Amino acid sequence: MSSLGITVLGATGSIGVNTLDVVAAHPERYHVVALTAHRQLDKLFAQCLQFRPLLAVLADADGASRLQQRLRDAGCTTEVAWGVDALEVAATLPQADMVMAAIVGAAGLRPTLAAARLGKRILLANKESLVVAGELFMRTVREGGAELLPVDSEHNALFQSLPRGYDGDLDGNGVEQLILTASGGPFRQRDAASLQHVTPDDACNHPNWVMGRKISVDSATLMNKGLEVIEARWLFNAPADRIDVVVHPQSVIHSMVRYKDGSVIAQLGSPDMRTPIAYAMAWPERIAAPVKALDFLALSGLSFEAPDLQRFPCLRLAFDALRAGGAASAVLNAANEIAVDAFLQQRIAFTDIPRLVERALQTLSLSACDSLDALLQRDEETRAQVASWVGI
Ligand code: NAD
Ligand code: MG
Repeated sequence: MSSLGITVLGATGSIGVNTLDVVAAHPERYHVVALTAHRQLDKLFAQCLQFRPLLAVLADADGASRLQQRLRDAGCTTEVAWGVDALEVAATLPQADMVMAAIVGAAGLRPTLAAARLGKRILLANKESLVVAGELFMRTVREGGAELLPVDSEHNALFQSLPRGYDGDLDGNGVEQLILTASGGPFRQRDAASLQHVTPDDACNHPNWVMGRKISVDSATLMNKGLEVIEARWLFNAPADRIDVVVHPQSVIHSMVRYKDGSVIAQLGSPDMRTPIAYAMAWPERIAAPVKALDFLALSGLSFEAPDLQRFPCLRLAFDALRAGGAASAVLNAANEIAVDAFLQQRIAFTDIPRLVERALQTLSLSACDSLDALLQRDEETRAQVASWVGI
């Protein structure tokens, strides 16, 4: 088969690096078309030297011209561009058969939508795209004839556990429930009072996964699971009451489908994102991924518990936003992005994150937005409001 071209949006992040690892393991099968990063110039420079993309993108002009010069000096012909429009260019280059959407936050929405419009294969890690604009996003995928492959480990597991060719009809496929597993995060066993004092480093010290700082904090508040519930709603056309969350601290079962006949089909594996990434890249084939095989005899047991919505209200807030509909999920996401950022900058306490999100849901308009521009404006308004509450 001929080699497939891949653009990696967010190449320098945790998912981006893991994606390039899979690409490097299959040089005959994949080649890199474009790489984008926000400000990590040195890392992007090294990736360009290794993978020789046509295009590299950074956030600002100054960084882009420095990167361009360094690449020229090193004899690398990669063109460097900058800014949000350049992200869309990277996502839509005709040489790219597939686009890994691995920018963090709502910033990933526009370039991912642009790839969907052109009917690319989209490997979706950037769950915030679906949380902010689920309906519009899914419509764009359909109308553009794009292929949407979930990379988030839970959704990848559900995709693998649903019938091949699943058409969005739970009942028609005999599905009772989608069960998302959650590790419970680093504070699963902490008492409520002590959560007030946890630091960003405590929150980013995830027991099973090594991830970017924003998603690590989301895992600690359980907002990550809330965002994933909303993500599952759109990916699999499942209403809120058909999606369940169970805490499974070992992160061996990545999620499960409960069928009406009593069967439960699950996907298991070592907690390593290169498995779902390789699956999404090669689907419907399977290729080798550089991951450790799951050793059943080394497992000390698999356990399950209910999520604690008192200590971790973000999960409840996400269910509330999903049920409220309209722009509630976009408001939830924007408020959470600002609150998490403020926590990482040590401006607010960990326990202020759900408070700010709840206040945003109670204060801001949740009415539906009828266009992408209107949604992005609501996103902006929410960010400005929450930023003013925390004094930034
Ligand atoms: P990360 O912080 O490690 O990397 C983010 C990447 O996006 C970096 O390349 C960064 O340069 C770029 N970026 C950041 N802000 C940007 C902006 N405003 N504009 C353009 N580029 C920007 O994050 P990550 O952990 O790799 O997560 C990426 C996405 O994948 C998130 O949406 C996350 O929820 C999702 N995800 C991650 C994991 C994981 O294991 N890390 C698992 C499932 C889903
Ligand atoms: Mg996940």
